Amino acid sequence: MNRPMQQPDVARPLVELQAITKRYEGPSGTFHALDGVDLSVDAGEFVAIVGQSGSGKTTLLNIIAGIDRPSDGAATVLGTDVRALDEGAMASWRGAHVGVVFQFFQLLPTLTVAENVLLAMDFVGTVEPAARRDRALALLQRVGMAAHADKLPATLSGGEQQRVAIARALANDPPLLLADEPTGNLDSRTSAAIYELFEELVAEGKTLIVVTHAEPSAQPYSKVVHIADGRVGS
Ligand code: ADP
Ligand code: MG
Repeated sequence: MNRPMQQPDVARPLVELQAITKRYEGPSGTFHALDGVDLSVDAGEFVAIVGQSGSGKTTLLNIIAGIDRPSDGAATVLGTDVRALDEGAMASWRGAHVGVVFQFFQLLPTLTVAENVLLAMDFVGTVEPAARRDRALALLQRVGMAAHADKLPATLSGGEQQRVAIARALANDPPLLLADEPTGNLDSRTSAAIYELFEELVAEGKTLIVVTHAEPSAQPYSKVVHIADGRVGS
């Protein structure tokens, strides 16, 4: 597979967005989902992006992940200009360098827990095939889900499914993790446990950007960014 494997420039932020705009054309004219967003995230940060439903959080996260493209502006993530890659190259790049966690987990329902994690490694191909199952089990152990490795996702609770999704996001050891309302569908105790896991991952050196509609306490974040109507402020 032809994959850009750029080394991040340590002097630059891990994520650098400049004047990012995302426009949609609708029946009543042009709508700005994002309107001139600047954002800079350094390696090792734990950043919360906070805003109400419809404020542009998912659009912003998807642009960082290379899932979505900006209409205008510059987006450099881990030294890669995310606008420069075509869709296939983007998917490969994302698989290797960015772990994404979603509100509704998005595990493949016909695959077991371990197979969901393995698939992420198979897709990228940097982990030796013979080492993949052991690595999947070690990651499931890491998130407290090793005993469930051979179960189907539907047999697990929401919190358990999210733990599996976090193990999957870690499959290729990406430096950057993005989480889109990861506890939006979980009760408060389960949410707290997920956040504890996030804090541990940041302590281990991961950079984490989490999007939430609930105002968080300042801890444990290095930065809290507010977003409203597609514009950021702090
Ligand atoms: P959030 O995640 O904060 O709820 P989103 O980023 O999903 O917000 O959406 C921001 C705004 O952009 C919303 O008003 C939404 O309706 C609009 N939007 C998102 N995706 C599209 C799309 N594909 N076409 C038109 N409008 C969109
Ligand atoms: Mg959203």
